[in-house]
Amino acid sequence: MKIHEFQGKEIFRRYGIPVPDGEIATTPDEAQKIAEKLGGKLVVKAQIHAGGRGKGSLTKAAEIHGVKVVTEAKDARAHAQALLGNALHTHQTGPEGQVVRRVLIERATDIAKEYYVGLVLDRETARVTFIASTEGGMEIEKVAAEMPEKILRLGVDPATGVQAFHGRKLAYGLGFTGDTANKAAKLLAKLYQVFIDTDASLVEINPLVLTKSGDVIALDAKVNFDDNAMTRHPELLALRDVEEEDTRERAAKDAELSYVALDGNIGCLVNGAGLAMSTMDIIKYVGGEPANFLDVGGGATAAQVTTAFKIILQDPKVKAILVNIFGGIAKCDVIASGIITAAKEVGLKMPLIVRLEGTNVELGKKLLGESGLSITPANDMLDAAKKAVKAAGGGK
Ligand code: ADP
Ligand code: MG
Repeated sequence: MKIHEFQGKEIFRRYGIPVPDGEIATTPDEAQKIAEKLGGKLVVKAQIHAGGRGKGSLTKAAEIHGVKVVTEAKDARAHAQALLGNALHTHQTGPEGQVVRRVLIERATDIAKEYYVGLVLDRETARVTFIASTEGGMEIEKVAAEMPEKILRLGVDPATGVQAFHGRKLAYGLGFTGDTANKAAKLLAKLYQVFIDTDASLVEINPLVLTKSGDVIALDAKVNFDDNAMTRHPELLALRDVEEEDTRERAAKDAELSYVALDGNIGCLVNGAGLAMSTMDIIKYVGGEPANFLDVGGGATAAQVTTAFKIILQDPKVKAILVNIFGGIAKCDVIASGIITAAKEVGLKMPLIVRLEGTNVELGKKLLGESGLSITPANDMLDAAKKAVKAAGGGK
């Protein structure tokens, strides 16, 4: 689960991680009031669940960016007005952008240097691991690709938890000295505590800055929580902002389907996560692009199959649908009736390629054949993928 920067900063504040003073506004009036109250040089920051806001701009006005320094309250108001209600486009949002519903007005910091620090779970070492770099402000993926030597990693033994030496090693590794090294080291230990206490999957400060007056401050905050741990954190669940979530992903979550939207044009309806992955692979292998990952689960019901179809059809990019079902727990005839009901209910018009295998497969095929729907049957996965790619117009 993702949260906004301002929510991440509230958590940081509770742990004593320094962040700039600031408040959230949902209207230009509020933005002006906050700006008058804070006074001085300020930053107006669009709050969306995507990064790259500083370089990102309004989909309709390329000169208006998601992060702007202002010196007058009236300019804070003007920028808030420009952003609120409009879609901000960044490299993380996709072409249609994401609508800005809140702006954070915070004190501008005099930056001496920007750093990157983050925490993730390294599955290879099975340790919560610090990632740090002197190349702050840049995307860490880009630093990793272009200057891997600029990235420090430090795993924390779960038996001991974070120790003073972790913070010191990283702080000195980043080039901090004396008092600022102490500040950075303490901040890093607190960041680790945030990660553990909230069952986070990612905690990231980009940029962490050294100010001209020698303070070490988090200027950005990205905190993602592990969805599987949310039952332990009702207080964090309250931070969920459903408006920021992909509407199709949300509908899928509510129907207990696993769905991830992708950029291609072949809608996939598959039972089982492994089969869904290999379906996407084989589509790519024959030159196509999947529009989504969709796992209806091993024991899919007809109702779930119908919801799955509706979710796929909401995506305007989809030109063909590939159904790939292995009837194990769910029998092929049950799935086939689900497909028929769903296709009729949603008035399916686009090409539908179906590959069925497993228990009661002959009965399932018979039902599909007699349904009166125009369904292209496929013999195996490769055949299905080829037919789907062809039906979708030869891939992306
Ligand atoms: P994003 O990562 O989405 O682009 P950031 O919060 O990292 O958004 O802001 C982008 C850049 O804007 C930062 O790298 C920093 O240079 C500048 N910035 C952000 N907040 C402040 C602030 N409070 N004071 C001064 N500069 C800031
Ligand atoms: Mg940032």
